[in-house]
Parts: sequence; C-alpha cells; structure tokens
Amino acid sequence: MTEFISKLEIKKIHRIVQKIFQITQKADIFCSALLLQAWRRVNYIFNKREIYASLERRKGNCLRCGRCCHASLRCQYLEYDENGLSLCRVYDRKPTMCSLYPYNENDYFYHLKSTCGYNYDDE
Ligand code: SF4
Ligand code: SF4
Repeated sequence: MTEFISKLEIKKIHRIVQKIFQITQKADIFCSALLLQAWRRVNYIFNKREIYASLERRKGNCLRCGRCCHASLRCQYLEYDENGLSLCRVYDRKPTMCSLYPYNENDYFYHLKSTCGYNYDDE
C-alpha cells in the first residue's frame, strides 16, 4: 500500500515537473521573441543599408505558416484561410518590419528558424 501511494506521489511530482518545464519553455520563447522584435527595430534604424544588402541574399519563399505573426503576442491582423494558410488583413500596407522578416541569418525567432521558408546562402 505504501509502495502504491509513493508511486502515485512520484507520478504527481513528475506531472508537476513536466508542467513547470512547459511553462518555462513558453516563457523562454515569449521573452526571446520580444527581445528579437525590439532588437530588429533598433537595428533597422541604425543599419538600414546593411539590412537591405543582406536581404538580397535571402532565398526561398514565405510558406504562409503565419508563425512569425504570433511569435510573441498574436498580431490582430493575422487570419487563416480555409486551407490553413495565413492571411494578413493589412497585406498591402503591412509594417516594414513584417516585410523584412527575416532580413539576415540572425533575424529569426529561434524556435521558428528551422520551419521558415526563407533561408540564407551562407548558412
Ligand atoms: S515563419 Fe517564415 S514561412 Fe512562416 S509566415 Fe513567417 S516568413 Fe513566412
Ligand atoms: S501586420 Fe500582417 S504580416 Fe505583420 S505581423 Fe500582422 S498579420 Fe503578420
């Protein structure tokens, strides 16, 4: 009986540890996405020329997964069509920072880099 109870306790602790791990992971992704969003704006102000130059090396296409539009907080203009592809409600006048993503090999939300349709030559 004591053994059964301690097994139950271990399961309970395991679940709690898993939950804490998931929350920590989400917080990590959220904070790093916010930092990147702030950083890329500052970088854009001071290094426009380099940014436009590196964009010329960008290869691939946007796969319209829409994940960069809710890397931290979900953008209010993000929608999905019936095929699950993302739609930007302000596509024709979307913010410059959206059109520039990703502007170089470091300008990726780290958890999205492997799934983004864009890539850079020298990676
Ligand atoms: S993560 Fe990449 S592929 Fe997905 S919507 Fe953003 S730019 Fe397009
Ligand atoms: S404005 Fe459009 S492209 Fe930019 S984050 Fe929002 S939905 Fe995405």
